[in-house]
Amino acid sequence: MKRYFPSEIEPKWQKKWQENGLYKFDESSKTPKYYNLVELPYPSGDLHMGHWFAFAPADAHARYKRMNGFNVFFPNGFDAFGLPAENAAIKRGIHPKDWTLKNIEAMAKQFATMGTMIDWAHEVITCLPEYYRWNQWIFLKMFEKGVAYRGKALSNWCPIDQTVLANEHIENGKCWRCGAEVIQKEVEQWFLKITQYADDLIWPESPKVDWPKQVREGQNNWIGKSEGMLLKFGEIEVFTTRPETTDGATFMVVAPEHPFAQAIKDREVRDYIEKAQKKTEMERKEDRTKSGVFTGKYVKNPVTGKDIPVWVADYVLAGYGTGAIMAVPYADERDKQFAEKFNLPIVKTTFKTKPAGKKTVNYHLRDWSISRQRYWGTPVPIVHCEKCGLVPVPYQDLPVELPYNVDYTPKGKPPLATDEEWLNVKCPKCGGRAKRDAETLDTFFDSAWYYYRYVSPQFENGPFDGGKVKQLMPIDVYFGGAEHTLGHTLYARFFTKFFKDLGLVSFDEFASKRVQHGVILGPDGNRMSKSKGNVVNPDEVVTEYGADAVRLYLCFMMPYEATAPWSTSAISGIYRFLKRVWELQSKIKNQKSKIKNELSPMDITQMHKTIKKVGEDLNTFQFNTAVAALMTWLNYLSARDSIDREEYATLLRLLAPFAPFITEELYQLTEQSDKSIHLENWPSYQAKYLIEEMVSIVVQVDGKLRDTIQIQNSEIKVKNAVEELAKVSPKASKYIENQEIKRVIYVEGKLINFVIG
Ligand SMILES: [Zn+2]
Ligand SMILES: [Zn+2]
Repeated sequence: MKRYFPSEIEPKWQKKWQENGLYKFDESSKTPKYYNLVELPYPSGDLHMGHWFAFAPADAHARYKRMNGFNVFFPNGFDAFGLPAENAAIKRGIHPKDWTLKNIEAMAKQFATMGTMIDWAHEVITCLPEYYRWNQWIFLKMFEKGVAYRGKALSNWCPIDQTVLANEHIENGKCWRCGAEVIQKEVEQWFLKITQYADDLIWPESPKVDWPKQVREGQNNWIGKSEGMLLKFGEIEVFTTRPETTDGATFMVVAPEHPFAQAIKDREVRDYIEKAQKKTEMERKEDRTKSGVFTGKYVKNPVTGKDIPVWVADYVLAGYGTGAIMAVPYADERDKQFAEKFNLPIVKTTFKTKPAGKKTVNYHLRDWSISRQRYWGTPVPIVHCEKCGLVPVPYQDLPVELPYNVDYTPKGKPPLATDEEWLNVKCPKCGGRAKRDAETLDTFFDSAWYYYRYVSPQFENGPFDGGKVKQLMPIDVYFGGAEHTLGHTLYARFFTKFFKDLGLVSFDEFASKRVQHGVILGPDGNRMSKSKGNVVNPDEVVTEYGADAVRLYLCFMMPYEATAPWSTSAISGIYRFLKRVWELQSKIKNQKSKIKNELSPMDITQMHKTIKKVGEDLNTFQFNTAVAALMTWLNYLSARDSIDREEYATLLRLLAPFAPFITEELYQLTEQSDKSIHLENWPSYQAKYLIEEMVSIVVQVDGKLRDTIQIQNSEIKVKNAVEELAKVSPKASKYIENQEIKRVIYVEGKLINFVIG
């Protein structure tokens, strides 16, 4: 028997799979399709552990589906425009395009290392004209329908990146890209009228598609639909969801930006307004009851007829409702705190008030600010003509290509505006002198529809081939990060609804299922970052343990949606597991003869239980428990003197989605076949063989309870097996890592204690 050297077998199979097109998607297949998708990565130049965690378990799922007879479509691409590329390029003095394309090349190689079944023939790179031309096409359709429009608005402005930011891209008042404090600035820009689709985007109580509850609730809260009334208090109009409390309204609060506040000349009020405008929206919301100033003015409560004072406070936002609220301290806790702080009256409300007003609906959702004053993005396909105004670039003239030689360092004015040759054009309508729009589209525009392009990346007559979309969409499962709840996935749903209105698609939701993963932290429990020196580089780990070990580890280390630190001891445990799978081949008794060993009922039960467990868990994204079941079975098999060839082949097939290289190698060795294991069917189990008990064993380190593991009854006699499983248990492993284990005490079927101290 040869020894297990991942560095020998993995590159060999990468090459072979590529040569024989093992993962090429078969468009003519008649078997049911399965569109397996992971959010497309930024071409940062380095495939980091987060990418591995996003892709490796998703790949295991895709492989499982394929072994179950599905025609799996698993494309990938690169979200190649945007600020990270541009800023990095500025820092390094390389053109963003060259930098980006070089990174894509490097990352494609790293993806090959991972051994995914991604079909790169459908790759989409969003910074290339053949893609962004269709961004422009979609933008023009939106412009025609009034969904894209130009307007002036007080906007979130990042002073470092010198651009407008959407609300969705601000985290705790800071720019999500660079971390700078976001300020408010009046900017003329392009918007997409996502608010027109607000009602369509609200999730119903029980939707037809399977999306996590926290995503649906998060989006619904963000859309923030509330039904209420518009009431007039003198010259000030307010929106209220509780008109029946109007008789308890004892004062009024307006936003600092409200015209009523702006008209006040009082020095104290002016100072307050000036300060408030320097705060971020988040700070203002958090500030709620802390600050405010009396305007010296009064308005009439329409129900009681009494004059009530008007205050300015920055917790009221100009964008919500009318930018003014009636305060009812008797019925509202926050109004009460404000009233108490500033000694304002609290009056009982009868809750029977019926004021005269207009019924209306209000939303928290704002239109999506879509243009950026930066270089590395899709040019807006509009021409500004002094005579005709905004004129769309004719469809046949698309794409409006992004010029290469532009000084793209930020100056507070769009870099494209400095390129006179590119900028000055003839008006397509009147032929007079005109200028191109110099702004570029937010990259979230690119990523709002890229998965449509995957189905027909070379299609020339539109953004996508409707027939192929009909065949392959909606997406069956869409893997991605929880950070995209309010941005990307909401935009993607919005685009789909717009496409439906255009008659381009027939479904309402682009993905039937959404699965969100957690985050892998550095070994010290902090987010991996270069400055903290806690980054685990996948390339280095692959060199040491092999890609199979990294994939298997990522599936095993924690539930897919959880967040946990990287553990070096656990990955070496995973490597040992693979080595034991390798060495187990020496125990196959009937390697050549194909005569079956006599298997005991217990042997059969173990096999069938494992088939069932691993399959169900892979189907429901419970990767960690699937791997645990494989470990349990391996321990069982290892404890025997000999195993049956069928058992070994089954073990390999169950392991194949997680560890595609070692299983391919072993399968061909032991089955003496040229057929790829990845073309085999998933093994099936029979219910009659399944009955067996599980036993819980307590894992202690120095007598302290650290975890509880589940072991099959048949296994509890094998101390080594229990010990191995306990050592890599997610909760206990960190206490054992890098420690010298002095003694292991095992109380059969009950408890295992590692003595260290
Ligand atoms: Zn920034
Ligand atoms: Zn004109």
